[in-house]
Amino acid sequence: MYPFSYTKVSDTRAALAAGRSGGRYIAGGTTLVDLMRETVERPGTLVDISALPLREIMVTARGGLRIGALVRMAEAAADPKVRGTFPVISQALELSASAQLRNMATIGGNIMQRTRCAYFRDVTAVCNKREPGSGCAARDGFHRTHAILGTSDQCAATHPSDVAVAFAALEATVHLLGPDGQRSVAFSDFLLQPGRTPNREQALRAGELITAVEIPAHPRPLQSGYLKVRDRQSYEFALTSAAVALYVRDGVIREAKVAAGGVGTVPWKLPAVERRLIGERPSAALWARAAERAADGARPLEHNRFKVDLLKRTVERQLRIVGGTE
Ligand code: SF4
Repeated sequence: MYPFSYTKVSDTRAALAAGRSGGRYIAGGTTLVDLMRETVERPGTLVDISALPLREIMVTARGGLRIGALVRMAEAAADPKVRGTFPVISQALELSASAQLRNMATIGGNIMQRTRCAYFRDVTAVCNKREPGSGCAARDGFHRTHAILGTSDQCAATHPSDVAVAFAALEATVHLLGPDGQRSVAFSDFLLQPGRTPNREQALRAGELITAVEIPAHPRPLQSGYLKVRDRQSYEFALTSAAVALYVRDGVIREAKVAAGGVGTVPWKLPAVERRLIGERPSAALWARAAERAADGARPLEHNRFKVDLLKRTVERQLRIVGGTE
């Protein structure tokens, strides 16, 4: 470890003032403290925002759902409003991390968490995300768990969050507060693909903090769920995952929201799959036909080619589960 200062704030004005001075926000600390211990991250000042009033889960006036940034993962997973309206969110949270971590980690921190690429966490390895321009040890190294979608020559690390996949599928919005006031960013624009700047991971401006994630109203009843495929059944990141939400009326799929995890440098929305579903009647043949499009644009590396087929099968299976033919 190395020396750093710590301050705890109790209102957003104090938080923003500390953030403006270069302080690094921390709440549950389940990712950042690990990275500090490994000296991957070396913030000079930690600003503890865990006492800010951002722990509410509420149904919005339009019938959507707003989850405060400081709601703990376990709280969100157990909340009846979340479970009743968007079970895909509860399931994604319950399949994440461990019970102890879910009791500490917050929703805002969860979507801000950094990649689990082993080379990123090994300060002796080259890594463009940690040290821009240094190279990518994963490319010539071991990359079985890495991304096949949204990669660049600079980086192929996956985004590790499960609930972010549900947020991507449901077309959530991220609410932010910063020195210039409030603003909202579509979830699809909030997490950034690596391109030439893999060190830049979110669309946050200096000193901004996340205040809430909002899921828009969707027609009801919306059937939804999350499937996670991994090397072991608990405390493991996804090799592939699928978040699916379907609105079926009069036997026809009117809306389809589908995203994949474990395969993209960001949670990967699957519009080609969605388009194949809308206007069709649920059937095993439809699920298979739609899932064929799940890996469109994939650029696998040598060790992770298996993810192309695994992704298609994951999406097909979850369509079957949510669509009611399994
Ligand atoms: Fe770093 Fe990305 Fe390469 Fe991993 S894949 S070593 S995070 S640049």
